[in-house]
Amino acid sequence: MLPNSRPDYLAGYPAELTSQIRQLIEQDKLADRLLYKYPQAHDIRTDRALHDYAQDIKARHLRNAAPLGRVCYDSKLHDLRNALGLHSRISRVQGGKLQSKRELRVASVFREMPEAFLRMIVVHELAHFKEGEHNKAFYQLCRHMEPDYHQLEFDLRVYLTHLEATGRALWATKPGGLTSPVPSPTCP
Ligand SMILES: [Zn+2]
Repeated sequence: MLPNSRPDYLAGYPAELTSQIRQLIEQDKLADRLLYKYPQAHDIRTDRALHDYAQDIKARHLRNAAPLGRVCYDSKLHDLRNALGLHSRISRVQGGKLQSKRELRVASVFREMPEAFLRMIVVHELAHFKEGEHNKAFYQLCRHMEPDYHQLEFDLRVYLTHLEATGRALWATKPGGLTSPVPSPTCP
């Protein structure tokens, strides 16, 4: 069992399912399953590339939402519970006016992940352009942009549970988890 002080990325899923996952981690079988299902890391490595990637999804599905402002990988987003929607909403409405552009931040750990996981988190953040809360409309919007959204979110949470328990990144470009070759100094 994992100690309680660690973030529980699988909270809310059925106990039988989460204990299966934990067992696979303890038996060191989970990594191979994830790598089999998601063999490759994406190559969207810079903030510029991330911006274009997010813009492309937005243009296809959320044309009417607020324009995309700055998009970046954020190395300060360590607690991924925040990245996954257990966050409380920060209101950026000032003086009754909606801000004209919205920024989109993605935790740096997503730089070295399969494209499917990056897509899931970008879809999640884009859905917040229209829905502030994690309500039914929000998840409908997520599924509109990515029909497999719920499966991807679960698989991502499984990976984060693995990462938390073992410290072993599965898609790191440099074995041993050395620092990423592409820093993003523009994202304070
Ligand atoms: Zn959220």
